[in-house]
Amino acid sequence: MTRIVDVLLPLPIDQLFSYAVEENTEISIGDYVVVPFGKKRLIGIVWKCSNKSDRKLKFIEQKINLSSIRPKLITFAEWVAQYNLIPIGMLAKVIMGGVLKVNLIDKLVCVEKKQETSEINYQLNPEQQVAFDKIVSNLNEYSVTLLDGETGSGKTEVYLSVTAKLVETVNNAQTLILLPEIVLTSQLVNRIRGQTSRNLVEWHSGLTQKTRRNNWLNIANGNMQIIIGARSALFLPYRNLKLIIVDEEHDSSFKQEQGIIYNARDMAIILAKIENIPIILSSATPLLETVYHIKSGNYNHVKLNKRFGGAELPLIKVVDMRNNKQWISNELFKGIKQTVEKKQQVMLFLNRRGYAQLVVCKKCGYKITCSNCAVWLVYHKKKNALLCHHCSYQLKLSEKCSNCQGEQSLSLYGVGIERLLEEAVKLIPNTKTAIISSDQKSVDRIIDLVLKEEVNIIIGTQIIAKGHNFPKLTLVGVINADLSLKNADLRAAEKTYQLLHQVAGRSGRFNEKGMVIVQTDNPESSIIKALQRQRRDSFYEIELESRLEAKMPPFTRLIALIICGKNQVATQKAANEIVKNISSLLCDPNSRHWDPEQNVWIPESCTGMTLYRKEIEILGPSPAAINFLNNKYRYRVLLKIHNKRSLSVQKELKCWIKNCNLNSNITVTIDVDPVSFF
Ligand code: ADP
Ligand code: ZN
Repeated sequence: MTRIVDVLLPLPIDQLFSYAVEENTEISIGDYVVVPFGKKRLIGIVWKCSNKSDRKLKFIEQKINLSSIRPKLITFAEWVAQYNLIPIGMLAKVIMGGVLKVNLIDKLVCVEKKQETSEINYQLNPEQQVAFDKIVSNLNEYSVTLLDGETGSGKTEVYLSVTAKLVETVNNAQTLILLPEIVLTSQLVNRIRGQTSRNLVEWHSGLTQKTRRNNWLNIANGNMQIIIGARSALFLPYRNLKLIIVDEEHDSSFKQEQGIIYNARDMAIILAKIENIPIILSSATPLLETVYHIKSGNYNHVKLNKRFGGAELPLIKVVDMRNNKQWISNELFKGIKQTVEKKQQVMLFLNRRGYAQLVVCKKCGYKITCSNCAVWLVYHKKKNALLCHHCSYQLKLSEKCSNCQGEQSLSLYGVGIERLLEEAVKLIPNTKTAIISSDQKSVDRIIDLVLKEEVNIIIGTQIIAKGHNFPKLTLVGVINADLSLKNADLRAAEKTYQLLHQVAGRSGRFNEKGMVIVQTDNPESSIIKALQRQRRDSFYEIELESRLEAKMPPFTRLIALIICGKNQVATQKAANEIVKNISSLLCDPNSRHWDPEQNVWIPESCTGMTLYRKEIEILGPSPAAINFLNNKYRYRVLLKIHNKRSLSVQKELKCWIKNCNLNSNITVTIDVDPVSFF
């Protein structure tokens, strides 16, 4: 009898495809194979044995000469797909890393580069040693450890030592280090290159196609032992993964919001669990979620209490801006001047790209908005254009107001980093400045200039808050500490605290004591107070308390539905329909039956009481904060799940939405454990 297998293909659908296996071919689960698909040929992964038999099926054409993927990666991919409601085929794409393509099969040989290294062995200080010992005492099974410690306390050094120990003692062991930002990967790579002779690769979207292919192959063959990557590195076909590290675990960049929606920090924990290996979360400002798990005894806690080498924490000064119209207060100006005179560096932090926040007509009050989105356009002086930060819309700044035709009536309102730079140069001429933001192409080069002390003042957005280590930096100025509090976001307070703490932590990391000047309209707020008094833990206590009261995560789970469509009335109607449908299913006992085949509840026409009634709360629908985006109207529904363990909701959600029979013009995006709420 002909064997039949189900193959996963890199297509955006939730389905496997059955193929027959030629008599004398050896095909096992996890193999990469070439199969005919319509008129095309595709590379897929043999996912499982099929029990189908009689249908006439096409044959697998060829088995690719690569090691097959490990069974646990299949388990993991399926888990991720189910939990996040991602079509399973999308995961084939990330597993194959965009490297396996039919026309490139003969290029699938990797060149193993000799890596240049010099062995420097750092001596851990006593505190680091204790942390190290605690972590390495149990590297043999699943555990989650928070490596907690002030910015600059030497956490990176600790987890690198753990990594070194592991790859030395366990044959061919692989360690994955996840970082939130591509810029940070090359810095870490350089740092590790100087310290260990182990084979090391990067994995992120910034690699050239050739490097990408080579790195993927080296990882798949097990040649590489230390993998430093961004989110998608979670899905690589490791041969012998033994440890995962998530650095800056609090960073919301771990949440992928486009394409497939998932949180790499959370999924990393799942991967560790499936692989039965340890995971280390590292941060000076852990997620509230993590703090909660430590309190509940689910995670281990390892703490470094002092900055490395006796560097002190910076002094934090708060400047009340309520009656101050300047962008740079007198206090901050003095600070900058003195610091620059001492030949030290200043960092000014403002989380706003571009030059001016918006352009407004002084005559008619019209504010220039995006033609595709309900947001104002941001003026970028360097590009000399008005840009939408949400879609790719661009507009030239004209002389006239397009609304009232008024001449020379347009004025630039608000400050972005480009304007701040002009202001700084005006106040302190002859200083060398540099901007670091996501608009910059060569961030690496700018960071290099900063390290070579060719820059006095660094001006940047939240990118500069993350993980950087600038020895000469002794003054950090926060231009507007209140910006991120304005987001309609349940985590606004937590995120603001983390962001400010992290930016502050860039100051005075070495010998010289650092200073931080925080400009705010809310000097009395608990966030600012906690920051100033260096009382992180009491801030967390208060925040946890308020989450408990509001029955919000980490005490409950959320799933957001974003309903989009070109027609406003139809979109709103669809959103109402979804809510009505789900509510009736939740309230009626006989509204559904259990389908053992699919393992889900299937809705029937409504009547009676269910298990879920008290477990799920529906909030909305309401127009999204940005209610028109990319030419589509948007409504949001939030499901709050009170029983955190009930993971079956996702399975049923698909069914529920299907049951609404929505018009094909309406799209519903499901965001499990949402991080942003726009
Ligand atoms: P964190 O990750 O906690 O922010 P790092 O590991 O980056 O801290 O350490 C801060 C600085 O101290 C870095 O420049 C690092 O090279 C240095 N450092 C940390 N531990 C050691 C050590 N054991 N020996 C020498 N230098 C160290
Ligand atoms: Zn737009």
